[in-house]
Amino acid sequence: MPTPSMAKPSTPKPSVSKPPLPKPRGRHFFANPGPTNIPDSVLRAMDRGSIDFNDPEFVEVYDAAFAGVKRVLRTDQHLFMYNASGHGAWEASLTNLLSPGNTILVLESGYFSEEWANMARGHGLEVRVIEADWRRGVDIADLRRALAADTAHVIKAICVVHNETATGMMLPLPAIRDAMDATGHPALFLVDTISSLGSLEFRMDDWKIDCVVGGSQKGLMLPTGMSFTGVSDKAMEAHAHATLHRFYFDWTMMANRAQKSFIGTVPVNIFYGLRESIRLLDEEGLDNVVARHARLAEATRRAVQVWAGNNGPQLFCVTPDRVSNSVTAILMPEGFSADGLRKTIRERFNVSLGGGLGKLSGKIFRIGHLGDLNEPMLLGALAAVEMGMRIEGIPHGRGGVEAAMAFLAGD
Ligand code: PLP
Repeated sequence: MPTPSMAKPSTPKPSVSKPPLPKPRGRHFFANPGPTNIPDSVLRAMDRGSIDFNDPEFVEVYDAAFAGVKRVLRTDQHLFMYNASGHGAWEASLTNLLSPGNTILVLESGYFSEEWANMARGHGLEVRVIEADWRRGVDIADLRRALAADTAHVIKAICVVHNETATGMMLPLPAIRDAMDATGHPALFLVDTISSLGSLEFRMDDWKIDCVVGGSQKGLMLPTGMSFTGVSDKAMEAHAHATLHRFYFDWTMMANRAQKSFIGTVPVNIFYGLRESIRLLDEEGLDNVVARHARLAEATRRAVQVWAGNNGPQLFCVTPDRVSNSVTAILMPEGFSADGLRKTIRERFNVSLGGGLGKLSGKIFRIGHLGDLNEPMLLGALAAVEMGMRIEGIPHGRGGVEAAMAFLAGD
């Protein structure tokens, strides 16, 4: 005799599939920390036919854009540009400056510092890491101790992500430079400015940075696909003796080309866009650009501080003077998925937010507030988050958007 349970299999419930939500209308609100919104005038500037990159008309555009990037980096030294996303510029920085077996020191800040370190290991470099809690970032005293202990000057380069896009944390570059100077350490100072350039204060020459890694798709408000490195005279000397394998990103070959960059075809349309984005930055003034980012970031944090009530989502970065002014990372309460919230917000309100990367996947979401952005655009994204939390039943303090508005209105 079959057992009762075998005799009477449970009848599967008819699946009640929810009708798909209608595709949301209206403009797609893009609140990712990169790529970022592309201004209409930049899109219009790129919307043109091809042109020979040696044509005098294009050379004028190229020269203006090239000089503009140096202005934004605040450098009078060297610049090399690549047909590649930021990873290409990372690779260029390592392979042009270092030799197999060299030791570098990476300051841990989050997913992107880890990935730069992994790339260095892949190139046969010895990587030392100043470890840090991702919510706080490194203790500068630990860096100072590591540099002071390296009396043989084994460390050839120090790699720092200025603004860790994955954790919403900004590291103090002047304090890091001071630690290097105070210990008299001659290492090269390599800085990733991918999500800080054109949005946070950045001074390559004043802060004695030897190699800056930048990309097109964040503060420069362009599509992804072009990256660059600002390079100091000291770094050019180191380059002359560096023997890691390189070809497509080789600075010596680039320096011998008319454009002082690019092995291969120059991405002409991007340059029309770049000239326009530099014009927009110049028109606003870099100091005003930095102030606008600080204002929008503070409004975002005011909202999050209210949401944190009632055991709601809270700021991921807990070091007040390191919170990023270009991206805010928000930690979900235990048991609630950041990705579920992002999905609801995208499907219901056509708003795109950044997710958690690496070990933070599903645990945090990120609001990008960099590039071409103003108050109503930010408030739209914050309102969508607040509505999303209501729909998803996520505990939070009510009135975050109100707090952001009060701050922006100067109440
Ligand atoms: N570094 C930082 C700080 C970033 O935010 C990113 C990308 O978001 C990268 C490096 C990698 O750049 P890409 O994705 O353009 O290769």
